[in-house]
Amino acid sequence: MTTQKMPAGWKFIVELPPRRDQEAIVEKNWELDLAGGVTFEGQRFDFPDGLVVGAVVQWLEESLLSVRLSLRSTLKGECARCLADASLAISDDLMYLYCSRGVQLGKDTRLQSDEGYLPVEVDAWGRTLNLADQVWESLLVLLPLKLLCREDCAGLCQYCGADLNEGPCSCGPQEGDFRFDVLRSLSLDDDPGGKTDGKN
Ligand SMILES: [Zn+2]
Ligand SMILES: [Zn+2]
Repeated sequence: MTTQKMPAGWKFIVELPPRRDQEAIVEKNWELDLAGGVTFEGQRFDFPDGLVVGAVVQWLEESLLSVRLSLRSTLKGECARCLADASLAISDDLMYLYCSRGVQLGKDTRLQSDEGYLPVEVDAWGRTLNLADQVWESLLVLLPLKLLCREDCAGLCQYCGADLNEGPCSCGPQEGDFRFDVLRSLSLDDDPGGKTDGKN
């Protein structure tokens, strides 16, 4: 199942707050059109209203930066069962913890663990940070493994392809009757005491 790579040239640059200022919060928002859509695990998703990305950045400690990423969109694609148009609103926040490489949580930091955070190791801090990898990762995390037109979609008949959401297909019952007849005739043949009574 193919999943596409992050689009070339993706950049989500934030200016970092002053390193020793744990009160300062930097917020930034982006609106993307994502016109090409995204292929994830072989499924294709379109984003007719684009994708809204927000970041809230704050130093927790000198070597720990918290980044809350928010993603909001309405995606469209094919229902995995009946192939009709399906859409799904996605909206979620993911917490990232950017940490200087080599720093041991709880030993070098007041923060005891990265529980609740997605950790990212940083080799060197600059004045800015590009969040592109994490935005892409967050988007893939929020995409559904199976998009459905509705939760109880009945799907298509595997024999005739009829949309079972519109009622039972004509081949289904016949298929069942046919098999039942075969079983019945087999059991009659196998039963030495069986007698054909004309109902078959
Ligand atoms: Zn469906
Ligand atoms: Zn059918």
